[in-house]
Parts: sequence; structure tokens; C-alpha cells
Amino acid sequence: MADIPTATVGRVVTYIRVLEELEAQNVLRASSGELARRAGVTPFQVRKDLTYFGRFGTRGIGYTVAVLRRELLRALGLDQTWNVVIVGMGRLGHAIANYPGASDYQFQNVGLFDVAPDVVGREVRGLTIQHMSQLGPFVASVAGTPRQVDMGLLTVPAEHAQAAAQALVAAGVGGILNFAPVVLQTQDLHLPEAFAAPGRREVTVENVDFLAGMKRLAFYMLGPQAGPAEE
Ligand code: NAD
Repeated sequence: MADIPTATVGRVVTYIRVLEELEAQNVLRASSGELARRAGVTPFQVRKDLTYFGRFGTRGIGYTVAVLRRELLRALGLDQTWNVVIVGMGRLGHAIANYPGASDYQFQNVGLFDVAPDVVGREVRGLTIQHMSQLGPFVASVAGTPRQVDMGLLTVPAEHAQAAAQALVAAGVGGILNFAPVVLQTQDLHLPEAFAAPGRREVTVENVDFLAGMKRLAFYMLGPQAGPAEE
């Protein structure tokens, strides 16, 4: 699975959503053309992406929606529970903690953390926000019961992001979804040996930035007149 292009993984997430739509509409089979139309890509792209995950579909008949969905969920690890903590319970941290949709994919919010005295101790959807000093003991208490804390959502101000990422990784959390507008220096982040699984990448960081999306949108909305500036 190591050589699957990032863009393919991104499209497969969309295919899963499309397959869920089809299942909800009681559609049992779908062609690559139908998947492609709904996903906004070409049928060739769908077929090519799926070859990374196995042999699916029958010529002339298409894909069995339920089977393809199940196999793609499995390939992406979305058929298992992932325990998540949120670090930084300000506006964004609260919004994410209050959003119920993630649990559809077995992402389980198990802990909320902050450093501000007026934030620590508050309750959000049944979880009490804990102080960052409790992160290590908390992760250790979850480890092996039977899962561990797998992912940390980082929603702290940019200037605190590297240190908070460091705290997550030192506690044994190797997956970080970083919302702060900063490039995390992953070479400085090392999982404690007890948490490092053989053959697995030590620390994995994904970045989410809706403002970057708006900036790209602004550029594209300028239209064809946007050209090189002259000094
Ligand atoms: P906020 O100021 O409302 O909340 C930040 C929280 O982090 C505060 O509660 C603060 O006490 C806490 N904090 C600070 N240092 C900490 C540390 N070391 N450990 C744990 N908690 C700590 O900020 P916000 O508006 O929620 O934004 C949070 C971050 O998300 C910012 O970096 C912001 O730029 C970013 N952001 C990203 C997106 C995106 O699309 N990626 C969108 C909005 C905001």
C-alpha cells in the first residue's frame, strides 16, 4: 500500500462517499462511468485508482456497491475505531468536538486538552477538558485497552503548534491533523519506542487549512487576466 499516490487516496475518500450515496438510494450496482460522474472524475481515473486496492467489478456489469464500499473502507482503515484527542479547545477545538459527523467513521473523541485555566474543566459532549500536563498520563491510561490514542487534532495558535505537537508525540500519539497555519518540523518529532510500530511511519502529519483554500479560490476567481506582474 506504500506506493499509492496521495491524490488517489484523496479520490478514494470521495468514491466512498459516492458509494454511500448510492447505497442510501438502494442502488446495488454501479459502473465506473456512474462513479466517475458522481465523483467528478473520468471513468478511466476511477478504474486506475481502484487497481491499487484489488480487482473489483465485472466488465459490462460494473461494481457491486456494498462490496466496493466495504473493501475501500477496509483499505483505508475506516472499518476500525480510531481514538482521537483534540489539543487546543478554543473556537475551532470546540466546533470540532461538537461536530457529531466524525463518529460515523469510527473516529472516537476520547480526550480534550488545553492549557487555559478558564477552559480546563469545562465539559463538551460528555468529555471534560483536561490540562495538557495530563496528556501523557491520559494516553498511557488508554494504551492497550485494547486500543491506543491514534490521532491528535491540533487546534492551538500557530506559535504553540510545534510544542503541542511535540507533547502529543512524546505522549505516544503518532498521527497529527494540524489545523495551525504552520509547517510542523516532523524531523524533530520522535515517538517513544514503546509506541513505534515496526514498518510504520513514525509520525504522520496531515494539514488542513480552509484559508489556504480561500486564497486559491480568490486567485482562480480573478480569471484569465491574472498574469505576471511587471516591476
Ligand atoms: P483560539 O484562540 O480560539 O483557541 C486556541 C486554544 O488553544 C486556546 O483555548 C488556548 O488556550 C489553547 N492553547 C494554547 N496553547 C496551547 C498548548 N500549548 N496546548 C494546548 N492548548 C493550547 O483559536 P482558534 O480560532 O480556535 O484557532 C486555533 C488554531 O486553528 C489557530 O492556529 C488558527 O490559525 C487555526 N485555524 C485553522 C483553520 C483551518 O482551516 N485549518 C481554521 C480556523 C482556525
